[in-house]
Amino acid sequence: MTDLTIRTLDGSTKAFAPDTIAALRGKLRGAVALPGEDGYDAARSVWNAMIDRRPGLVVRCLGAADVINVVKLARDEQLLLAVRSGGHNIAGNAVCEGGLLIDLSLMKSVRIDPASRTARVEPGATLADFDKEAQGFALAAPLGVNSTTGVAGLTLGGGFGWTTRKFGLTIDNLISADVVTADARLVHASEEENQDLFWALRGGGGNFGVVTSFEFRLHPLGPEVLSGLIVHPLDEAGELLSRYRRIAKEAPDELTTWAVMRKAPPLPFLPAEWHGKEVLIFAACYSGDMKDGYEAIKPLRELGKAIADVITPQPFTAWQTAFDPLLTPGARNYWKSHDFADLPDAAIKAIVDAVRTLPSPECEVFIAHVGGAMARVAPDATAWPNRNAHFVMNAHTRWRDKAQDAACVAWARRLYDATASFASGSVYVNFMPEDENDRVANAYGANYRRLAKIKRRYDPQNLFRMNQNIQPDK
Ligand SMILES: Cc1cc2nc3c(=O)[nH]c(=O)nc-3n(C[C@H](O)[C@H](O)[C@H](O)COP(=O)(O)OP(=O)(O)OC[C@H]3O[C@@H](n4cnc5c(N)ncnc54)[C@H](O)[C@@H]3O)c2cc1C
Repeated sequence: MTDLTIRTLDGSTKAFAPDTIAALRGKLRGAVALPGEDGYDAARSVWNAMIDRRPGLVVRCLGAADVINVVKLARDEQLLLAVRSGGHNIAGNAVCEGGLLIDLSLMKSVRIDPASRTARVEPGATLADFDKEAQGFALAAPLGVNSTTGVAGLTLGGGFGWTTRKFGLTIDNLISADVVTADARLVHASEEENQDLFWALRGGGGNFGVVTSFEFRLHPLGPEVLSGLIVHPLDEAGELLSRYRRIAKEAPDELTTWAVMRKAPPLPFLPAEWHGKEVLIFAACYSGDMKDGYEAIKPLRELGKAIADVITPQPFTAWQTAFDPLLTPGARNYWKSHDFADLPDAAIKAIVDAVRTLPSPECEVFIAHVGGAMARVAPDATAWPNRNAHFVMNAHTRWRDKAQDAACVAWARRLYDATASFASGSVYVNFMPEDENDRVANAYGANYRRLAKIKRRYDPQNLFRMNQNIQPDK
């Protein structure tokens, strides 16, 4: 057997004798996967097919002790290190070229305590894993809209979805976390212990250590929620979105609506002549009493004459998977995102104009309505600063053929530029593609300096750098 070569933090490589790798295997509960071995490709494959990296060594961890062993190896040998949970990050930071990959995707336990309405969740759990277990007790935490996304990356970046206006961001419901820090210690972070670290974890991404367990607060919800889609022709989007702006402002916290513009998928409830044509879709979810929900959704239903209206009571777990068929792994993806405090007509026009020239049939632009409970937390209470963002736009460019890369990326950048003057300047770190590292300081705004100081304390060498990276304060 030959030596194994692994990339280091300074860009050079280090050779490891087979005995060293065998000794590592002996220490672990989980598995080592070398290139070509079982599990290697599963661990290095992520949601965005634009990312195709080959780590030098993969460790598929099964517990905190495994993570401690691997972080210790990375620190002692100064190895380039990536951390993967659900593998959905658009920037692909979950995988590194030539370095050491900590794969947490096998750590999927979710334990609900119905009495205290709390959950303990391991980092490999997906939103579906968490939702299904919690809904077994008619409980939920606010998560995102695609059920195959990882709880870990979503939480560490902030996390928002259908119930955020009612229950806050995912991080607003985080009670504590177990973290393996860069010095290979397991520490507990909460409002009572390691408060600085706990503050930084709530929005600061993977910069501060490897989270091996999350503890969440849960809320009664469902099992059915009033939710679904209202579909209109794109030609009416300018006027409808302009009127929708007021409906969104006046909406109760229980009601969340996202406006999605794209070519209509061949959904069974849509007349065939609309399949493949550009449409505006209002996707809505009411997180409260069903009777109040019908009343709250009325203004949205009375907006224009819809092609289809399929808002109906359905299991929350079903609604949480409603968009999965459009967001399957394996396509090429590139995103550009802005936060907006408001959505002026000129911004709406720029977005609708862009949707008339979608570069591929799977592209879409969504405008998520946030605010509500999320906006009532102080911007410096957690690392996530964008509390006054009322709408989040994401130009979600998605295609299959590599030859279309340049055209699709250019389309997203044009839309981003055309709407920049209306945006608030902040951005959700979890929507930043790999070429946006220069946007990290802006993303955190006034919270960046405190994050940089905490980074210096917990990771002065920047061992955890495969992320939307916060440089340790000098
Ligand atoms: C189709 C789709 C829909 C989405 N919808 C939403 C949405 O509705 N709301 C929303 O808020 N976000 C949404 N997102 C964004 C999502 O929050 C991010 O992609 C997030 O990073 C995914 O987490 P993951 O665990 O799957 O990612 P991974 O790619 O595995 O991890 C992302 C990064 O997080 C860090 N990390 C991951 N796990 C750990 C850990 N255990 N400890 C320390 N650091 C870690 C690492 O730096 C890693 O590079 C969506 C993403 C996709 C692809």
